[in-house]
Amino acid sequence: MTSADTTVTFTSLNLAEPLLRALAEKNYTHPSPIQAQAIPHLLQGRDIFGCAQTGTGKTAAFALPILQLLDARPKARTPGRPRVLILTPTRELAAQIGDNIALYGKHLKLRHTVIFGGVGQQPQVDRLQAGVDIVVATPGRLLDLMGQGAVRLDQIEIFVLDEADRMLDMGFAPDVKRVIQRLPAKRQSLLFSATMPQEIRDIAANLLRDPIDIAVTPVATTAERIDQRVMFVQGADKHRLLVHVLEKHDDGLVLVFTRTKHGANRLVQKLDRDGIPAAAIHGNKSQGARTRALDDFRTGRTRVLVATDIAARGIDVKGIGLVVNFDLPNEPEAYVHRIGRTARAGADGLAISFCSPDEREYLRDIQRLIRQDVAVEREHPFSQGGGGAGSSHAGDRAPSQPSRGGRAAATHPHPSQHRGDRRGSARGQGASDERRGRHEHRAQTPRKPHGARSAQASAPEAKPVEVAPKSRTAGFFSALFRGRR
Ligand code: AMP
Repeated sequence: MTSADTTVTFTSLNLAEPLLRALAEKNYTHPSPIQAQAIPHLLQGRDIFGCAQTGTGKTAAFALPILQLLDARPKARTPGRPRVLILTPTRELAAQIGDNIALYGKHLKLRHTVIFGGVGQQPQVDRLQAGVDIVVATPGRLLDLMGQGAVRLDQIEIFVLDEADRMLDMGFAPDVKRVIQRLPAKRQSLLFSATMPQEIRDIAANLLRDPIDIAVTPVATTAERIDQRVMFVQGADKHRLLVHVLEKHDDGLVLVFTRTKHGANRLVQKLDRDGIPAAAIHGNKSQGARTRALDDFRTGRTRVLVATDIAARGIDVKGIGLVVNFDLPNEPEAYVHRIGRTARAGADGLAISFCSPDEREYLRDIQRLIRQDVAVEREHPFSQGGGGAGSSHAGDRAPSQPSRGGRAAATHPHPSQHRGDRRGSARGQGASDERRGRHEHRAQTPRKPHGARSAQASAPEAKPVEVAPKSRTAGFFSALFRGRR
C-alpha cells in the first residue's frame, strides 16, 4: 500500500482512538492516498465520487469514517432496519468488506452483517432481525430479502455503491436502481468505480449531492508495479509449460487463470496427476467449496489456485508471488485485475502470460490498454522456433505494438474512455446469480470475438444473457433521479 505523503497519519485524519488501535494492530502505519483524501471529507458528512479500484485501500477509506460516524451518533438498533448499506457486485467482495469492517471495528460496539446469494437465507434473516448497524450486500439477495420484508432501507444514513462499473458489467443496473429507490432522500452517499464511463457519471450526477471527486491510480497504471512476461507457446504445450514454470518458481502462492470453468477443472486434474496439488475456484462451485478453496490457498495449504475471472475481483490474498495467465483474457481489463492479485498492498509481483498463436490479438489489446509492452520470455522448453535454452530475450517486446511512449501511448484514450466506448464490452451481456437468486456467477461475459478466433476463444465461461442496451440503462438512472433534487 503506497502512501502519497508520509506526513499524513491516521491520527492526523482525526480518527477515533478505537479505530487507531485496530489499525495499529493491523500494522497499518500510514493511510493510502485514497484514505488520506477521502476520510476527512467523509467524516464531515460529504458525498464522495471516487475513481479507485480494489487494491488501493478503498475499503478502509469508506469503512473507517462510517464506523466513526455511527459510533459518534449512537442509536438503538431496530430489527431489519440498518443504518448503513454497502452494495457490492460479488459475494467475495461482500465477504471481504465484511471481514474488514469486523477488523477495523473490533473495539467498537457496532454490528454488521453480509448478505449474498448462493447460501441459505435464514441465517441472514436471523441476523437482520437481531438488529445490525451495517449491511454489506449484493443486489439480488438484498432485493429478495427486501421483498420478504426481512430488511427495510428507510433508516439508511449512509449508502455506498461499490465497484459501480462492475455492477453495470454484471447487468445489475435495474437491481441497483430498485435498491436506490428505497433509500431515504436524506443520506450520505458514496460511489466508487474503477473506470468512469458516461453511464457512471450519469449515475453519480443523480445519486450524489455536491460530491468531492477523488481519483487514485487508474486501473491501467497499476500494472506498472508488476514484472510482466509473456511466453509464446502452442496451446497443446501450455500444461507442460505450466509445470515447468511452477518448478522454476517453487516459492510463494501461485494464482493461475483460465478462461473457462472446464479449463480450470481440467487443469487441476492434470496438475494433480503431475503430483502438484491445486484447487479450482469458479462460478460452478458451491459457495462452501469456493470459501474452502480460498481458505486453503490463503493459509498456504494449497499453493496453486486455478481461477476463472470471477475470482480476479474478489481475491485479496497476501503472498501471491506469481500470477499465471494460462489463457489470455478476451477482456483486456480482466488482465489488469488478474495480475493485480499479485503485488497486493505494495508488494512487487510477477505475472507470466501464456500466449498461443490464436491469442495474439488479445495480447495486442492488453498492451494497448496498459500502454505498456510486455517483455517476451523466450527461455523456456516450449518456445517456438527451437528449444529455448540459452536464448533469453527477456528484454524483447511482444510484437505488433508501438513502443512505450510511442503513438499508441500518445493517442490512446484514457482507459476509462476506452472501456466505456469499446465494442462488445461485457457491460450489458452479463447477469448474476445474486440477481436472480441462482447460484451462478456470470462475471465472465464474452467480448465479441476478434475476426478469426478459435472455438475455444469464442466459448467462454458465461453465457450471454439479455440485458437492456446502454442507452436504456443510462436512461433508467436519469428517470429514477429526476425530481430528487
Ligand atoms: P482494498 O483496496 O480495500 O481491497 O485494500 C487492499 C489491501 O490493502 C487490503 O489487503 C488491505 O488490508 C490493505 N490496506 C488497506 N489500507 C492499508 C494501509 N493504510 N496500510 C497497509 N495496508 C492497507
